[in-house]
Amino acid sequence: MDTQMLIGSKFEQGTETEEPILDPKTGKTILDLPEASQSQIDAAVAAAEKAFASWSRTTPGERAGYLLKIADRIEAEAEGFAQLEALNCGKPINAVRNDEIPAIVDCYRFFAGAVRTLPGTVAGEYMVGHTSMIRRDPIGVVASIAPWNYPLMMMAWKLAPAIGGGNTVVFKPSEQTPLTALKLAKILADVLPEGVVNIVLGRGESVGNALINHPRVRMISITGDVATGKKVLQAAAKSVKRTHLELGGKAPVVVFDDADLGAVVEGLRAFGYYNAGQDCTAACRIYAGAKIYDKLVAELTSAVSSIKYAQTDDTLNEIGPLISQRQRDRVASFVERASELKHIEITTGGRPGDGGGFFYQPTVVAGALQDDEIVQREVFGPVVSVTRFSEVDQAVDWANDSDYGLASSVWTKDVGRAMATAARLQYGCTWINTHFMLVNEMPHGGVKQSGYGKDMSLYALEDYTAVRHVMIAH
Ligand code: NAD
Repeated sequence: MDTQMLIGSKFEQGTETEEPILDPKTGKTILDLPEASQSQIDAAVAAAEKAFASWSRTTPGERAGYLLKIADRIEAEAEGFAQLEALNCGKPINAVRNDEIPAIVDCYRFFAGAVRTLPGTVAGEYMVGHTSMIRRDPIGVVASIAPWNYPLMMMAWKLAPAIGGGNTVVFKPSEQTPLTALKLAKILADVLPEGVVNIVLGRGESVGNALINHPRVRMISITGDVATGKKVLQAAAKSVKRTHLELGGKAPVVVFDDADLGAVVEGLRAFGYYNAGQDCTAACRIYAGAKIYDKLVAELTSAVSSIKYAQTDDTLNEIGPLISQRQRDRVASFVERASELKHIEITTGGRPGDGGGFFYQPTVVAGALQDDEIVQREVFGPVVSVTRFSEVDQAVDWANDSDYGLASSVWTKDVGRAMATAARLQYGCTWINTHFMLVNEMPHGGVKQSGYGKDMSLYALEDYTAVRHVMIAH
């Protein structure tokens, strides 16, 4: 197993506090990894800054070549990456192997193409006797900080547009899930010029904090909690760093009475519980029309109670455990508080799973009301609430009544109603008659407190480059 950080061209161990890396399926420690010291963080930033001078002047075609090589190398070692990610996150191996790894490889390939075709305003004589042109130039050293729910995928979403755009990076994986980043470090060191990507380990409050406050860092890209995003903004304000924030979510799902009930139930069973609900776009907050509500709750309850987890044969598992004991306790306490309310019924699940790992039963919370905590707050676990609505306006108001604004969905057979409702939802994404589907060509990112950075798509390349105007007097 690779355990060393990448600083410039050197592989080295951190020298500070050791962090236990756990197997969430058993709760046992896989290994302990020490975090980076201040001088190692400084060395990583210095290596990135040094590399920027030449990397920022490579052509898009050259950078595309590097991104394609990274994609090929990950693909060639797909099984090793999948096994390691499954171990560190507790994910079912099939989910990583079949869903995540192909999307990760595709992300590097997408940006290899995208960086060669950046669109923009045409050059021209906008003032008589002068020619103006627009450039899109890299920003400098980017500090990239990732969460634990999709470690290697978040790394792809952050690295590919950043280095594709000509920046250099110091990347910090979550202190809970650094293993695939350390494996990728070997490939990055082989493929890329020295210092273009550096990887340091450590906790948010120590290493993360040092990175976001570092005077030589020009941009901070972070996926994480809203509270963490606010700390990043405060740190960025001191030296006016550019920020790219992908924060939490609490996705509303509006199900009209005419929706295809079978498709809704199948969709919610998949998209409400995938990755054990540890997904900022999880379909977790259902608003069901008055006529479809009872049938929806009954059929969803039965479907969710059949979700397979904690099976010894991992190929049968549909979801894994939560990432940690702390996360499981958090999820359990949300459900406990909800179940104390008279109007709420836990129709399936509602308890920690058996065994030594951090499993939690897939849970349906029926009869939830708009002001309930379970409707308002991000649970980040396999828990879906269902709330009855009677009027379209009420459903839209409730869906929008959230500090979050990442993802949403609308389910109906009436295309006009679907489009009219989608237009009124204040979310970075609205799916119609599906949920959760992502493609590298389209942006992922929020509004409101879910942040404003866009991952994937040409919009990410815009985020990681600065627009510049060059004007020539004839
Ligand atoms: P977190 O905010 O605790 O940690 C995320 C990363 O930030 C980690 O690497 C952590 O070490 C680092 N960090 C924490 N405090 C820091 C600080 N003070 N300074 C610098 N870095 C710091 O979040 P998490 O628990 O790892 O992940 C779950 C959260 O991420 C959820 O709220 C979820 O909704 C959100 N998330 C959002 C998206 C999205 O695209 N919007 C995607 C995945 C996860």
